[in-house]
Amino acid sequence: MTAKQQLNIEEIAHWINGSVVKGGGRSQPVYNPATGDVISHVSLADRAVVEQAIAAAEAAFPAWRDTPPVKRAQVMFRFKTLLEQHSERIVAAITQQHGKVLHDAAGELGRGIEVVDYACGAPQLLKGEHSKNVGAGIDSWNEQQPLGVVAGITPFNFPAMVPMWMFPMAIVCGNCFVLKPSERDPAPALILAELLKEAGLPDGVFNVVNGDREAVDTLLHDARVQAISFVGSTPVAESIYRTATANGKRVQALGGAKNHAVVMPDADLDNAVSALMGAAYGSCGERCMAISVAVAVGDDVADQLVAKLQKQLGVLKVGPGSDNSNDMGPLITAEHLARVRSYVDLGLQEGAELVVDGRGLTVPGSENGFFLGGCLFDRVTPEMRIYREEIFGPVLCVVRVTSQEEAMELIDRHEYGNGTCIFTRDGEAARYFTDRIQVGMVGVNVPLPVPVASHSFGGWKRSLFGDLYAYGPDAVRFYTRRKTITQRWPSSSVREGAKFSFP
Ligand code: NAD
Repeated sequence: MTAKQQLNIEEIAHWINGSVVKGGGRSQPVYNPATGDVISHVSLADRAVVEQAIAAAEAAFPAWRDTPPVKRAQVMFRFKTLLEQHSERIVAAITQQHGKVLHDAAGELGRGIEVVDYACGAPQLLKGEHSKNVGAGIDSWNEQQPLGVVAGITPFNFPAMVPMWMFPMAIVCGNCFVLKPSERDPAPALILAELLKEAGLPDGVFNVVNGDREAVDTLLHDARVQAISFVGSTPVAESIYRTATANGKRVQALGGAKNHAVVMPDADLDNAVSALMGAAYGSCGERCMAISVAVAVGDDVADQLVAKLQKQLGVLKVGPGSDNSNDMGPLITAEHLARVRSYVDLGLQEGAELVVDGRGLTVPGSENGFFLGGCLFDRVTPEMRIYREEIFGPVLCVVRVTSQEEAMELIDRHEYGNGTCIFTRDGEAARYFTDRIQVGMVGVNVPLPVPVASHSFGGWKRSLFGDLYAYGPDAVRFYTRRKTITQRWPSSSVREGAKFSFP
């Protein structure tokens, strides 16, 4: 069976008003990164297709807005069951188009399902606040009303999870959603659309338009779209934030990262090394929470850390994601592979010490796949571009400092502030770190401090544009508008005259 037959997709189209919609004019190839083969083509929506999706969402909104939250939640309960029943199919689609290893794809799906789980609590989450007798015979309460049509624009690196950070919460809050997934791995989003329909979601409440900048621009400029959730690289996040806010939309735009792990002299080094291996090389470093800088406090720690990482890299298993015994799969595209390799070349030119060079790796049987072995740089300094810029590949940079204070100044000076962590046995040092560090998500002996679904996800500085984070309690605030009602029912026996002073 060919890959296309497996997914039952020849041309990856759009999903509008509960059905597959073809067209859009342009298309582009979708690859299996493990083989380098073109496995499908994705339609790139033009303005007319996006407008069709927005119109479907707008038409579905009045009935969905008036559907009781408990009924909306019941759709999510059924969706959750279907996601579990179809997990193999979704995980296979993620691995086939993204390249990550099956066990990692299953982890991604699991994290998305947790958001669906949280969204099932809609009746509780949408409860307002009530105050009786705010004045004589006057009651006041607030309601959280949906916005209307909202859109999500998502990156390639979590083709199922990041969309699920957005639409389950938007939908249970009573909105209708238009998703524009990454054009590099679009299949998982369409499976989610099918399952939502099977779960009983009315047509038009969830729509998928595949595409590129043209589709995004249409969403940003259409007055019917009330809010935009974006996750992707910082230059695009910033531009989307500026354009969409200028057009009067509510926006949350999550951007790139350069996450530092501080290794203190008292850290359990073996534990830190295992954690760093997973956090730096898992998913081929294509995670916005990946650790890409290890900050070693003291030369003694740095020497030991580098030696242990080098040893671990010697046994890192790199190969197709379809083989669950692998640790790491390929990069997403040939262009991205070339870009990451060019950063490794650059690091050498900049004078960093390349302790492990993954550029020579070949994977037998997958010679045309977009593979790069794990790379490790030592003696990286803050002026180097390999330190300053997000590489988004399996490249870990070790920076040597002399104190915790110096490590923290380094992190605070960096333009990104998504995630960070500290490895230490010293509670005081850890508390000082979590108190002061200028980063949104912080781990203590936890390398990837991704908040669970009942909290919210977001970075600081140029890792997030906007005020509200993704999923969790912030998502209820983002996808609703507060209305406060003050009510009085005058008694027919008491009639008051006009009052001209503020009560
Ligand atoms: P990207 O910015 O290239 O693309 C993201 C989305 O924006 C895609 O849907 C794409 O089609 C669209 N897009 C791309 N260029 C555009 C343009 N010029 N105008 C309008 N739309 C455009 O990001 P990517 O390469 O898919 O994903 C990797 C990036 O995402 C990394 O920088 C990573 O750190 C970031 N990311 C951040 C988070 C987070 O939570 N902060 C999570 C995951 C990924």
